[in-house]
Amino acid sequence: MRVYIHGRGLAGSWLAYELHRRGVEVLVFDPHPAENASRVAAGLINPTTGSRPKSTWRSEVLLPFAREAYGAIEREIGASVWTPRVIRRVFLTEKDATLWSLADQRGVGVQWTPLKESAVDGVSLPYGGVEYAGATVNTNALIDGIGALLERDGCLAADTLRAADADVNVWCHGWRAASDARWSWLPFQPVKGEILDAVIDGPPLNAVYIRGIWIVPSSEQHIRIGSTHDWDDLTEQPTDHGRRTLVEKARVILGREVHVTGQRAGIRPAARSKRPYIGLHPEDPSQAIINGLGAKGSLWAPWAARQLADLLLEGKPVDNEVDVQQWWNV
Ligand SMILES: Cc1cc2nc3c(=O)[nH]c(=O)nc-3n(C[C@H](O)[C@H](O)[C@H](O)COP(=O)(O)OP(=O)(O)OC[C@H]3O[C@@H](n4cnc5c(N)ncnc54)[C@H](O)[C@@H]3O)c2cc1C
Repeated sequence: MRVYIHGRGLAGSWLAYELHRRGVEVLVFDPHPAENASRVAAGLINPTTGSRPKSTWRSEVLLPFAREAYGAIEREIGASVWTPRVIRRVFLTEKDATLWSLADQRGVGVQWTPLKESAVDGVSLPYGGVEYAGATVNTNALIDGIGALLERDGCLAADTLRAADADVNVWCHGWRAASDARWSWLPFQPVKGEILDAVIDGPPLNAVYIRGIWIVPSSEQHIRIGSTHDWDDLTEQPTDHGRRTLVEKARVILGREVHVTGQRAGIRPAARSKRPYIGLHPEDPSQAIINGLGAKGSLWAPWAARQLADLLLEGKPVDNEVDVQQWWNV
């Protein structure tokens, strides 16, 4: 089987790797492989979502799946991409503290430990907080590592691929799918996000801090702060407003100054259903898609790639919560 993959962010990279290792003839093309949401992302894998005690969709299955998949790919590409992290959720109000103290950990499906100290890493915790296990993925190392492997084996195309030459074309083109007539019937909701690189004074952070935004330590005094959500401005340009918003929120959490050293923006390919979109086009099974990775690309991409590869190679149906067929003619 010959498969053409259009797009080389997290979705296209993972799919190319999955099909290539299973012996499929793969060719990948991306006109701008260095500029996409995947390369802007901080790669945070957080098993909870929102400010309430709620687990991320299927995190009990997808987190162990991702841990194993990233471990295997690290051995394959010879680069470290997965870093286990302690995530500390800081409460900013009494209500936060009550919500989390009343929640049943087993019911939520995430194990956390209450933070009893009044401050940690110099971050004051007037209402307390909780900590639990998560991870970050170095998305650039991952995409570059898979890219090198594909290039070595002649699987990277230098020019646009002629769809008619492949048995299957898989579209992994991120938020641009929303304006592609072939796929625009899927309910997309692209969201711009901005992220800052910054330096802090005072004690270094030994964990990821979360409250509305996230703060990920990268080295000693260096941190990344993200991210904003804008549904109206779908340009990939950083803005003053985005920068101010993130700096102000980070100051509230950290209780100290942050000095911005860099700023980037990207568009998340988000789905209204808040689930990935995976599967074959209902009218043309030679066209397939992986999209809708939203804010969870690092967690969802390896699983999404396995789902589509199993469908293409073994005829195994895609999980019906994510199969694109359910959105046709809705
Ligand atoms: C600021 C920000 C922070 C984020 N933080 C996190 C995070 O901490 N954790 C997390 O899990 N996720 C995060 N995300 C989300 C994550 O980045 C996305 O879920 C993921 O990158 C989507 O991957 P993708 O491959 O679908 O799309 P993309 O990464 O956008 O890749 C799509 C690619 O397709 C190419 N393309 C477009 N049209 C065509 C075409 N016609 N032919 C060929 N190629 C084409 C583009 O050039 C692009 O390279 C963040 C996103 C942003 C913007």
